Amino acid sequence: DIFEYAPAPESRDVVDIRPSYGLFVNGEWIDSLGDERHKTINPATEEALAEFTYASPADVDRAVAAARKAYDSVWSRMPGRERAKYLFRIARIIQERARELAVLESLDNGKPIRESRDVDLPLVAAHFFYYAGWADKLRYAGFGEEPRPLGVAAQVIPWNFPLLMLAWKIAPALACGNTVVLKPAETTPLTALAFAEICRQADLPPGVVNIVTGAGETGQALAGHQDVDKVAFTGSTEVGRLIARSVAGTRKKVTLELGGKAANIVFDDAALDQAVEGIVNGIFFNQGHVCCAGSRLLVQESVQEELLDSLKRRLGTLRLGDPLDKNTDIGAINSAAQLDRIRTLSDAGEREGAERWSPPCPIPDKGFWFPPTLFTGVAQSHSIAREEIFGPVLSVLTFRTPAEAVEKANNTPYGLSAGVWTEKGSRILWMADRLRAGVVWANTFNRFDPTSPFGGYKESGYGREGGRHGLEAYLDV
Ligand code: NAD
Repeated sequence: DIFEYAPAPESRDVVDIRPSYGLFVNGEWIDSLGDERHKTINPATEEALAEFTYASPADVDRAVAAARKAYDSVWSRMPGRERAKYLFRIARIIQERARELAVLESLDNGKPIRESRDVDLPLVAAHFFYYAGWADKLRYAGFGEEPRPLGVAAQVIPWNFPLLMLAWKIAPALACGNTVVLKPAETTPLTALAFAEICRQADLPPGVVNIVTGAGETGQALAGHQDVDKVAFTGSTEVGRLIARSVAGTRKKVTLELGGKAANIVFDDAALDQAVEGIVNGIFFNQGHVCCAGSRLLVQESVQEELLDSLKRRLGTLRLGDPLDKNTDIGAINSAAQLDRIRTLSDAGEREGAERWSPPCPIPDKGFWFPPTLFTGVAQSHSIAREEIFGPVLSVLTFRTPAEAVEKANNTPYGLSAGVWTEKGSRILWMADRLRAGVVWANTFNRFDPTSPFGGYKESGYGREGGRHGLEAYLDV
């Protein structure tokens, strides 16, 4: 256990937030050539945390040039075992600073400290440890005689798991010998900026990692930059499409991790208590800001009543509030814009005829909040059964036979994940074989591990992150 005991609530005092941040280019903090500055706010209080820059295209040029120079002169030539030393060092620093980083993540994102402390940060460190171990083993691991890095990677990430998405992107890229320019999301830049400091602390050669902050325009300048060899994007399917178009016909390779509308499927022979916990974890973990969230519950008709009764009882015990309080289950919605989107889609669900239910749930005066919400009487044609809400909203549908469950689960343009709850091993295999999803969890949900590949079928994207497959996205063989 890398976390020392800390009294609740966790204290803001453990983090050192500067009033204002520049861009991290070539191992140094530089000022933007443009003059767009914005504030990142704590979504639980609406208070400004710090000011940061929206990088201009000229700034992106400087970052890509620094990454190119570091690639050519240092990083691509360094033996794998040397690169590994830096990655191990970064992993250890993350462990040492885990408490501070967890608090910073909860402040900037709104997620409960219990999750940033017990899920995000341990996984972030684990990713760096895991890919550090690969750096000197690429040559004889079946990637071909001479696996080569691709060059400069442009990486654009979303706001739901800011530091974990950074780890998923940067660790394998660096292990393979690529250099990186990464852009965090505009509502959650702080842990990526803290990571820049960690690179300095680890004595990483200048230019190997560059962090440029900004919104869509900065992301576009980065992904569209002509001296980039690889684009790795995690975010909405809409922006993923734009990126796929922009790289078509260029030399760039691309991986896309996009949206989802996962089915969590409960059969009548499942251990229902366990399934209830899995359903709650599936959709209310991280306020449902999870690409692979189990946002559609498919329950076998014969156990619908019993399951919904105990699910409602369990939802009544969830505590919504201060993300830094260790007892909090549901934190703040990341931004006013996201709250708006969740409200709009939920209202549409009601208008279309589904029945809405939430437990009594006091909402703080300040900040962005949405109560845990359940929709029953949902038809497949309803927008809440089709569109990704990316919030704490669960749509309940029913089925009678395994074949019907498969048909309904696959009736979506997405294909990122699915969950199956049953005591029958043969049924798990039968279902997993037919579900068009990159991950199928059996009797569990939202379980992640750096050794497993993660990624989507269909409009959920292409390419895999994690595991040995995650390396293929950053190598030429
Ligand atoms: P988003 O697509 O709006 O933004 C993602 C990132 O792209 C941000 O950094 C943003 O600034 C940048 N961006 C926006 N427009 C751009 C453009 N035209 N060119 C380049 N970059 C641009 O998504 P979001 O709202 O931040 O994140 C939520 C989405 O991310 C959800 O759809 C979710 O399912 C998805 N997601 C997927 C995974 C996965 O692994 N499949 C993981 C997390 C989130």
